[in-house]
Amino acid sequence: MSIPNLQDFGFDAEYQAIYDMAYRYAREKLYDLSPRMDREDWFPEAEFRAMGQEGLLGVTVPTDFGGAGLNVLAQCFICEAVSYWNHSLAASLLASDNLCLDNLVRNANAEQQARYLPAFCTGATIGALGMTEPGAGSDADDYVLNGRKLFITNGPVADVLLVYAKTAPEKKQHGISAFIVEKSFPGFRVAQKLDKMGWRGSPTGELVFDNVRVPAANRVGAENAGAGIMMSGLDVERVIAAFYGLGLAQRALDLAVDYATMRKQFGRPIGDFQLVQGMLADMYTDVATIRALTYQVGREVMNLAPGEGGRGAVHKRSAAAVLHAGRACMRVLDLAVQVHGGMGFMNESEVNRLYRSGKVLEIGAGTTQVRQFIVAAELLREAAAH
Ligand SMILES: Cc1cc2nc3c(=O)[nH]c(=O)nc-3n(C[C@H](O)[C@H](O)[C@H](O)COP(=O)(O)OP(=O)(O)OC[C@H]3O[C@@H](n4cnc5c(N)ncnc54)[C@H](O)[C@@H]3O)c2cc1C
Repeated sequence: MSIPNLQDFGFDAEYQAIYDMAYRYAREKLYDLSPRMDREDWFPEAEFRAMGQEGLLGVTVPTDFGGAGLNVLAQCFICEAVSYWNHSLAASLLASDNLCLDNLVRNANAEQQARYLPAFCTGATIGALGMTEPGAGSDADDYVLNGRKLFITNGPVADVLLVYAKTAPEKKQHGISAFIVEKSFPGFRVAQKLDKMGWRGSPTGELVFDNVRVPAANRVGAENAGAGIMMSGLDVERVIAAFYGLGLAQRALDLAVDYATMRKQFGRPIGDFQLVQGMLADMYTDVATIRALTYQVGREVMNLAPGEGGRGAVHKRSAAAVLHAGRACMRVLDLAVQVHGGMGFMNESEVNRLYRSGKVLEIGAGTTQVRQFIVAAELLREAAAH
């Protein structure tokens, strides 16, 4: 089952149409890019930008600013479908469209939205998100950002970045502000593109902010209110990351089933062997549970208001969704390689590519351990309140 029947899960036909459109486009236009992306760590920039013409970018942007005015669930389904066919490109899609753009949709003021959002929808702008690290001083009408940020998806290719910086370090999490930084701002540069075991072709960079002057008009939200934006955004990011992992895991399962049918040993397809069947059954069960929890929590965050999240049930459940998705996806990928035997160990095989990329799902958007303590902290808080 590579195309889920979303209506079986209670979603209406509109979501199915969006999923199917993204799935078809990714299969026809994006899948074949994957081997070169992996081999050469090549980012297909033109193909990424072209997704804008297909209506795959900026779906959560209001129609007044060139988007489709849909909720984040539509973006989640696009991410799942693209991840199924080209998970590295989907990683860049997620970083630009969700981590950067959707946070601007939810938090930027009208002037900022009019200025920045339309170009994301056409693909003219690629975005990235850099979480706290740089510090900022203020100077008349500007802020001056200094510092470095590591591991930024799309950092080397981004035109616009949403950056969190410390504006009042002594206030800790109450002293962070969010800023829109353009790559052309003097003092901003990419220190290096990083070499990764997976997600190859989705560029990850180290960024340097050397006295980067950011106009006060580019501060998103109030001064020192960045943590609220970040925490609320992270809840949504965790859910879309779970959708992303679902696409990846479903692809690995489908590849394993195909291989089990095709590969013969001892004169029989390996799928005839019960121990191979056991692996397929375990993989299927993990994919099914990722899907059930992810879709349910997707429903819960799809109308999350700005400022909501970062605490309470949604915080707990988004962390639980990605905690499960990350771990279960890695189990599925491990078994998918096992079903492929020696071929699975070869860098050139698709399943190997997926395996090397899957690990990041236990690291990005808060590690497995961070997700665990979010879930546990909320459980204990609930218990204390009763
Ligand atoms: C490919 C890739 C892309 C990324 N893209 C982005 C991006 O676009 N934007 C962005 O801002 N960031 C990005 N990141 C950064 C990512 O979010 C961090 O790497 C991640 O949150 C982990 O932080 P860290 O690397 O500093 O690890 P550390 O925090 O140093 O963690 C190291 C280990 O210690 C454990 N640990 C740390 N603190 C605790 C604790 N309190 N309790 C228990 N265990 C703990 C962790 O679970 C982990 O096992 C990306 C990372 C990668 C690898």
